[in-house]
Amino acid sequence: MGFKYIKHLRATQATPQTSAIPGRKAEMSQNAAGGYAFDLDDWSLLDRFLVLGTEGGTYYTDEHELTVASAVAVDRCVVADGSRAVSRIVEVSDSGRAPKNEPAILAVAMAAKQGDEPTRQLAFANLAKVCRTGTHLFQFVAYIDAMGGWGRGARRSVGDWYMAKDADDLAYQLVKYRQRGGWTHADVLRLSHPRPGADKAALLAFAANKVADGELPPIVVGYLEARNAASPEDSARLVLEYGLPRECVRTEHLGEPVVLEALLESMPLTALIRNLGNLTRAGVVTPFAASTKTVLGHLSDSDRLRRSRVHPMAIFLALCTYSAGHGVRGTGSWTPVQQVVDALDAAFYAALSNVTPTNRRLLLAVDVSGSMKQSVSGAPVSAAAAAGAMALIVARTEPNHLVLGVNTAPVELRISPKMRLDAAMKVVEGKISGGTDLSVPARWLSAERMTVDGVVTLTDNETWAGRAHPVQAMAAYRSQVGSPVRNVVVAMTATGH
Ligand code: CA
Repeated sequence: MGFKYIKHLRATQATPQTSAIPGRKAEMSQNAAGGYAFDLDDWSLLDRFLVLGTEGGTYYTDEHELTVASAVAVDRCVVADGSRAVSRIVEVSDSGRAPKNEPAILAVAMAAKQGDEPTRQLAFANLAKVCRTGTHLFQFVAYIDAMGGWGRGARRSVGDWYMAKDADDLAYQLVKYRQRGGWTHADVLRLSHPRPGADKAALLAFAANKVADGELPPIVVGYLEARNAASPEDSARLVLEYGLPRECVRTEHLGEPVVLEALLESMPLTALIRNLGNLTRAGVVTPFAASTKTVLGHLSDSDRLRRSRVHPMAIFLALCTYSAGHGVRGTGSWTPVQQVVDALDAAFYAALSNVTPTNRRLLLAVDVSGSMKQSVSGAPVSAAAAAGAMALIVARTEPNHLVLGVNTAPVELRISPKMRLDAAMKVVEGKISGGTDLSVPARWLSAERMTVDGVVTLTDNETWAGRAHPVQAMAAYRSQVGSPVRNVVVAMTATGH
């Protein structure tokens, strides 16, 4: 038997959050609110950048500063272990974990441009996994171009992007995504110079605006016919006959109900959810319209929701964007149709069956300090409202949970599984005030003598106000309950702590 009280001394050790923990100074730095917090390692920063992006910055940092900081971290990952960096970028992008793919495209372009030879090769070899659509390819090309132009590797891999797709898939990409950010397929083909076999020679000639000699895939035939469609009825017939996307339809026919009906027929649910604002602005979705009925039918089809595996958070974000009546960046605006808002709201609950619960005893701690008023990167919604939605998802899917608000003290947050989404958002938004002390959840559990398997904290991580650091409070709680309680911090912004 040794000094049996030592561990208690350690466990109850407290350092104010305005100072670094003695002995761990090298791992910590001051966050934007002045508190000391653990620095994220570059790999976690890479993850945060890939998933959250930097659009809109944070409460404390502007977008440019945050993007530069993220790019520096991506660069360090590429240098430290290029193959791990590329694998991670591909994994996050390919599995659809990020709401937006552009951070992954920038990151893979950085690896392709700034990595060592094996890293560059790996990045180029995985180009098609990250750049899945024509638009993604244009973004990649624009980044490569901005970083100093085209090397041989870039030319070959971009050429391979066209060569590796089967003719029908490539044809779809070519007619759907014809240009973006000043780039066209003709530009990209001129620079990458692929040498197609007989099966794609005519198709690539078409894409390069040259005379196509030979047979074109059906969708290109349909696209060419649609450019000369004489009436909206003709356009609608071609959409149905060739499976044309809306980009192929003559602009002056796009607003016609008969065309919109035809387009909605085959639109995947995830595309429909993303395009509700555009459809409303274009006059397709209006009160009493037949196409609105089709949209409402798709949104309330629970089999379709299940098959699409759409996450309730994706529906939540679509709901916030649609009800806002304008995109985050776009210039266009629309008047939301209330029935569509309600259908999205209902789809949120239906999609909860797509969430797998942990079935553990969970404390969900929601940061309700003042800085949570900021918006989430790239979404027209505050971090507080998003946290409200996430709290409701937990409340509805986890059988053993407790939700607790946190600023510099515990805050009661009454979020019940019976609640509607807007009510849950209002509960969190209504409590926003004060400073931040993320040691509160663990200290509260200790004081209440409550045993949980894990603590999940939703926060922007600008903690500064506590007399003890969160890690110290958690150590004390773990030794009190005698088990290795899991501690998860969910970043609501892409900061470095
Ligand atoms: Ca705060």
